[in-house]
Amino acid sequence: MARKKIAAGNWKMNTNIDDGIALAVAVADAARSKDTVTILAVPFTHLYPLQKKIKSSSKVLLAAQNCHHKASGAFTGEISAPMLAAMKVPYVILGHSERREYNHEDNALLSLKLRAALDAGLKVIFCCGEGLDIRKANAHVAHVKKQLTESLFQLTIAEMKNIVIAYEPIWAIGTGETASPAQAQEMHAAIRSMLQKKYGKRIAENTSILYGGSVKGNNAKELFSQADVDGGLVGGSSLNATEFVQIINAF
Ligand code: PEP
Repeated sequence: MARKKIAAGNWKMNTNIDDGIALAVAVADAARSKDTVTILAVPFTHLYPLQKKIKSSSKVLLAAQNCHHKASGAFTGEISAPMLAAMKVPYVILGHSERREYNHEDNALLSLKLRAALDAGLKVIFCCGEGLDIRKANAHVAHVKKQLTESLFQLTIAEMKNIVIAYEPIWAIGTGETASPAQAQEMHAAIRSMLQKKYGKRIAENTSILYGGSVKGNNAKELFSQADVDGGLVGGSSLNATEFVQIINAF
């Protein structure tokens, strides 16, 4: 089984519902006929209306951008994994650097969130990546290894089949600065080798590893052509249908 090629758009806290529907429909119309998978990680408020607007297809899927680690309870303002699963939302992003930074989500909490998501039957796009200081100290591979070991690698082999990994160097997110294709490939190959050591060849070969950090229409092709880069997690450029479709077409 070849691993999936995935273009995932992370809309973050952008678009009102009308703009969001127009954007999602334009992307879905272009993406549905492709061999690749397109995932739209939209605000919680958009999930239900978009389920109705986008004809269900294994090629265009929705994702939430977060979920709580408990299934229910007195957690005002939170959304649980079973709530997403009940709405048939297939994916959730966990571990995004913005949530790690602004919401103080550490590896221990992310481990609980992974458990909650998988127990509810969701698939997870799990993000990892280093800041600029760590990159400059040449400690980026060790940093990502620690992030994965303390959270993701608590899962079983069977559970790993529901995981997509997104490597997102923080210094490249929303900055316009992209990791070079060689820098992306170095880390992706390192992650695949970590997967192989922990889970064996089958999981290593079948887990999609996405690159995220200022992916654009004009750099996606080179990034996606790297041996271990299976697609992208795209922020800013996923808010423009033309540019995001260019990224989808870069495979
Ligand atoms: C992201 O937020 O996941 C991201 C990669 O953002 P951008 O593409 O804007 O750098």
